[in-house]
Amino acid sequence: MKISSHSLPRVALITGGASGLGLAAGHRLAADGLTIALADLDTDKAQAAAQQLPGSGHIGLRCDVADEASVKASFEAVVARLGEVSVLACFAGILSTARNPGRLATTEITLEEWDRVMQINARGSFLCIREMLRRAAGQLMEHGRIVTVASLAGQMGGMQSGAAYSASKGAVLALSKVAAREAASLGITVNTISPGPVDTPMLQLTVPPGHGDQKYLGTAGVPLGRIGLPEEIAAAVSYLVSPGAAFVTGSTIDVNGGMLMR
Ligand code: NAD
Repeated sequence: MKISSHSLPRVALITGGASGLGLAAGHRLAADGLTIALADLDTDKAQAAAQQLPGSGHIGLRCDVADEASVKASFEAVVARLGEVSVLACFAGILSTARNPGRLATTEITLEEWDRVMQINARGSFLCIREMLRRAAGQLMEHGRIVTVASLAGQMGGMQSGAAYSASKGAVLALSKVAAREAASLGITVNTISPGPVDTPMLQLTVPPGHGDQKYLGTAGVPLGRIGLPEEIAAAVSYLVSPGAAFVTGSTIDVNGGMLMR
């Protein structure tokens, strides 16, 4: 069978798109020819970032992924301004609401901390996926794609993060597989990228003061001997979103410098 390329202009909604990995994914998908909506809590940053993407027609908008109404409104705004969303990339996430840096012991985690991290990382991914699937119900999409973002912490019991973050990413891994089964008949694939340490503002939060400009304390445990680049996560997104990845669903792509081999 010949791999068909997409015939329609494709719109990608990227949550957490104002910073770090989401922003890098926006740059890469825009360079790939998609029209991008960068959705983030930080509206000004999302709008300014959208203007810097290659090509034209991209937008930035406010979205709180933990809020049901905000997620619905964001999809509606994107559809009204750009057309139906065929690619959803769920990058919005937080490490902790509590003290940074430092891994909180489970005994130190408050209910508020647990709930807030789960609300953004797990519930946020659920709400975005649910909205995408609700909108797609009853029609067959051409190259519909959902990319979720887990973490090595969710696979290995936490690295520089504690129970709330790790469990929220475990939830993302399981949720994505459920969604992959349910979305298959709609022409939508669902895959997860599970990054190891990558150079973003979030990673910087794991480094306590007194370590100069060091960006991560655990590079000795990385077989490739360095932290990753946001562009290296974006390259995986680009692949998963491409027509050539149409037969890949329910998978987890590890982009972690070899820290977990399985
Ligand atoms: P980042 O802090 O640079 O960016 C996260 C973005 O999410 C920010 O722009 C923030 O405003 C936004 N955001 C936070 N709460 C939100 C909400 N409720 N609604 C909408 N947007 C919200 O972090 P990053 O490193 O780019 O992380 C992106 C994703 O990758 C996260 O899910 C993170 O858990 C995951 N991840 C990162 C690393 C890493 O080493 N950087 C490793 C593994 C997984």
